[in-house]
Amino acid sequence: MDHFLYRDGQLYAEDVPVAEIAAQVGTPFYCYSSATLTRHFRLFDEALEGTEHLVCYAMKAASNQAILKTLAGLGAGMDVVSGGEYARAKAAGVPGERIVFSGVGKTRDEMRVALEGGIRQFNVESEPEMAALNAVALELGVKAPIAVRVNPDVDAKTHAKIATGKSENKFGIPITRAKEVYAEAAAMPGLDVVGIDVHIGSQLTELEPFRLAYEKVAELTEALRAEGHDIRRLDLGGGLGIPYTRSNEAPPLPTDYGQLIKDTLGHLGCEIEIEPGRLVVGNAGILVSRVVYVKSGEGRDFLILDAAMNDLIRPAMYDAHHDIVPLTQPAPAAEQAPYDIVGPVCESGDTFAKGRMMPELAEGDLVAFRSAGAYGAVMSSEYNTRPLIPEVLVHGHQFAVIRQRPTFDEIINRDTIPEWL
Ligand SMILES: *Cc1c(COP(=O)(O)O)cnc(C)c1O
Repeated sequence: MDHFLYRDGQLYAEDVPVAEIAAQVGTPFYCYSSATLTRHFRLFDEALEGTEHLVCYAMKAASNQAILKTLAGLGAGMDVVSGGEYARAKAAGVPGERIVFSGVGKTRDEMRVALEGGIRQFNVESEPEMAALNAVALELGVKAPIAVRVNPDVDAKTHAKIATGKSENKFGIPITRAKEVYAEAAAMPGLDVVGIDVHIGSQLTELEPFRLAYEKVAELTEALRAEGHDIRRLDLGGGLGIPYTRSNEAPPLPTDYGQLIKDTLGHLGCEIEIEPGRLVVGNAGILVSRVVYVKSGEGRDFLILDAAMNDLIRPAMYDAHHDIVPLTQPAPAAEQAPYDIVGPVCESGDTFAKGRMMPELAEGDLVAFRSAGAYGAVMSSEYNTRPLIPEVLVHGHQFAVIRQRPTFDEIINRDTIPEWL
């Protein structure tokens, strides 16, 4: 459920007509709903009620500081995967003790900054990384709290590019080697082993892979405790999927996911961390675009939009489907025709949908891509020297631009031309 609904034939974001934002901000732009963000965060928080827990929003899904601040105000922690994200979380006012640091390639500089600025835990993904973190912590005279990310070799049954829990993926250490690696960690004086971390992939539409992974984590917790490790925290990653189409079967709900966590791990008395990203922000954002031309091709018609693959890369990168709807609600009996919906970038891959049935649209009409809040703005680029598009946050009757569209001068002036040229 989100807060982008038609009222009197116009698409609204909460209490603001989206067309009104378009008139002020210009297209294309991303638009987020605070109420939807809040609702989705709370679903996770409530799903773990009765269990000591922290919901660490995976901010790589959408990392605008206004979004981070909205969530931090609700009690969210953050899952960061780079020094840049760490700095962003801190800038948005998130205290270090609510930040977990994930990622396979943390550099020593990133480790240093996080240890100095405060960190809840590092999720370490390899033995060389463990050794580096130990060295950095000793240099600084501190102990780095760690969980080791284990790879449970579970098939997440999602798109190959976002599956992370199979043995062939680069993530974590094989769960079969966990005892050895934990023994090594315990022997490193710069590390404080606090828990276990697992994250098997993104856009999971079934609970079963989570169950398989969490059962393995439960077993491992007991095995490691038997070896004397004080496992007191379990970081269970993110990955719960969202419905990208209205018609498809709905993925499991956060309450059922929470229940699964309690069923598989509740008896261990550990503090639970989860790292949802997509489900918190995915349906809380839309991408608004204008039809530049309607072009008749051979055997097909193209809707050429002013948004392109550089603004929303998911269709090109993951063959992802986004519902695309006109801002003006079509009449219930309106005729539909198939369109290839494309952007202006000079690549055939700049295609959002092929043969998509749409009501009749004309030059200048506005459309919204639904479920574009996660892995949308954050994955955008300035390819073709197209400026990064604005982000807008709506809250009830109010809206604000939370990232400005840069001018061409700002973009161009980032280059420097050597004096010898
Ligand atoms: C990407 C990622 C997440 C978030 O995944 P979602 O599918 O967006 O919920 C959580 N944890 C880690 C380690 C990740 O890499």
